[in-house]
Amino acid sequence: MGIYERLGARAIINVAGASTRIGGALMPPEVVEAMSEAALQSVSMTELQAAASRTISELTGSEAGYVTSSASSALTLATAAILAGLNPAKIDRLPDTTGMPNEVIISKEQRTGYDHSIRLAGARLVEVGMNEAAAGGGIRRTEIWEYESAITSQTIAIAYIADRNATPLLKDVVDVAHRHCLPVIVDAAGELPPASNLRAFVDTGADLIAFSGGKAILGPQSTGLLLGSKAHIASVALQHLDQDERFDVWEPPEDFIDKSELVGLPRHGIGRGFKVAKEEVAGVLTALRLFVEGKIGADFSGQRGHLEYLADGLSGLPAEPRIFEDPVTGAPVMHLVLDARAIGMSGVEVCRELRRGDPGIFPGEGKLDEDTLIVSAFTLDQSRTEQLTRRLREVLRTPS
Ligand SMILES: *Cc1c(COP(=O)(O)O)cnc(C)c1O
Repeated sequence: MGIYERLGARAIINVAGASTRIGGALMPPEVVEAMSEAALQSVSMTELQAAASRTISELTGSEAGYVTSSASSALTLATAAILAGLNPAKIDRLPDTTGMPNEVIISKEQRTGYDHSIRLAGARLVEVGMNEAAAGGGIRRTEIWEYESAITSQTIAIAYIADRNATPLLKDVVDVAHRHCLPVIVDAAGELPPASNLRAFVDTGADLIAFSGGKAILGPQSTGLLLGSKAHIASVALQHLDQDERFDVWEPPEDFIDKSELVGLPRHGIGRGFKVAKEEVAGVLTALRLFVEGKIGADFSGQRGHLEYLADGLSGLPAEPRIFEDPVTGAPVMHLVLDARAIGMSGVEVCRELRRGDPGIFPGEGKLDEDTLIVSAFTLDQSRTEQLTRRLREVLRTPS
């Protein structure tokens, strides 16, 4: 029996990619070993995050960095850093921002469920632009002048949700923001691979950039990375680290938090509930180094082989496997186009059947209405690929 069965759940086959709801990435053995080793010794979390900042800086070119619990909490902490800086009274007040400038500008077409994380710190989102492309009511996207027109004395930042199709370009948004002395917060959670994007985002000049640790980097599912300036990261640390400390004995590494800039220590900040374990810091830093050095997440030949094995195994069934390579990441993905009539089930019904079955299989759901399953090979190995092929053959056989 596996661990999930012993715990009363079941192991599943995740072919939907690094989705949080189905456990995210599977970690390489080096990362698991780093976490096991970290679990057996104590460490000062302040000193560990200071070391993490140096490592993230070395590997990404960012001035400083921080290990967060998820990209989502990185967005909350980034917003909190902009709102409160190194002012302990403001840190203690958040998310109450009454009487403080608290507006974050965001393009209407970049609104996502994750912007809740920005609002959580006490910021208010101010939308610019229209959503004409999605509404089918026009051809224009959000334009730079719309950001600039929305800036007032209440504005504290611009938020930008990175996507390969996002417009205007991030560097143009950064230019506008910096002309008005405003920082830019970037949600780049899913923008890896390629690993070169870590530096590419830093090079845009964006002030605070959030990445997921549990997606392509293959770190612990609960982790995130926040890249930013030393001043912002010092504020993040103050609002995230446990603050049950005496100021007179507290000696944070000087390159991480400049104690001389503080009048005193705030109490637990808004990030206290987003605690990160020492094991998670060790895991994600190990994963980040492997990822940047190209030792994980760069070679997709194994993933492609698994999808080709699956495609071969489905021959003769009323389903057409089409394998594509993502032009940006290089990752292969299969679209399995079902002949719903021959199978006697719609894409939604096949998906439900796969999820319920043994083993449970969770495909990507983005094209179910077109009777198409999206199959990522992100967590596949040979054994899981064989089980997947067997189960799909059972479900897709034409009813007799
Ligand atoms: C995955 C994702 C997130 C959330 O990342 P977590 O690390 O799970 O919090 C946020 N924004 C975007 C665009 C994402 O793709």
